[in-house]
Amino acid sequence: MSIYRCLIVAGMVLPAVPAAAQPRLQVELLRLDCGTLDVKLENFSDTGMYAGQKRTLAASCYLVRNGDRYLLWDTGVDGALAGKPKDKQGTFLKETIATQLSRIGLKPSNINYVGISHYHYDHTGQLTDFPNATLLQGKADWDIVKVWPPAEPRYRRWLTGGGRLELVEGDKDVFGDGSVRMIDLPGHTEGHHALLVKLASGPVLISGDQYHFTENRTVGGVPSFNVNRADTLASHDRFEKLAKNLKAKVIIQHEPADISKLPAFPETAK
Ligand SMILES: [Zn+2]
Repeated sequence: MSIYRCLIVAGMVLPAVPAAAQPRLQVELLRLDCGTLDVKLENFSDTGMYAGQKRTLAASCYLVRNGDRYLLWDTGVDGALAGKPKDKQGTFLKETIATQLSRIGLKPSNINYVGISHYHYDHTGQLTDFPNATLLQGKADWDIVKVWPPAEPRYRRWLTGGGRLELVEGDKDVFGDGSVRMIDLPGHTEGHHALLVKLASGPVLISGDQYHFTENRTVGGVPSFNVNRADTLASHDRFEKLAKNLKAKVIIQHEPADISKLPAFPETAK
């Protein structure tokens, strides 16, 4: 047993040092461009707020470095779209995550964890490019993935037992030192999570799809395609209290205006 975990003094065994009290490795956060989506907004309110409106949403992914370990948060739209014109559904991807990582000297095999906010196509599109990563997925989402055919191609490696899988119930301390935490916020999907990253400069709360754009947050709106309205509203409440109490910088993953809240790639926030 490491001396950091257990000290024997004069025959007394002192308790192990709590993980959160251990020295922190430097944590860095970097935003990746994971596509854009043209959407009809009327589906983004179950109270009829946006009839006839359209909008282009960003799809963003995030790389977190903790010492020599890496977490990729979400994997954007389908990598097969990279470099092609916008598809018929209005989805566009300039370049894949793997290409962006190569520009900072990383390979997909360097990614230890891929954390997924929820199973939708615009968050899991390039999951298959990271077959050696441990997949961190909300358990309640996994229970859907197992029986929902559209998810099968993206999740096949993990569905067939070929990939490491950690199912997340409640919150999840990703690196075991309190620096990066998946936050349990059900409602958009059954096992939806956001990500809280504690940087030296302050905490950053990355939304998943708790909200899709700034106005959606301001009015506390609920998209009509969310799976549970009551859970969504309870998760709005938890998200807002966390943001306020921690004085966190909030990044809405689909909000183009939030791109500038982090340094431009390949600069990292520390
Ligand atoms: Zn989304």
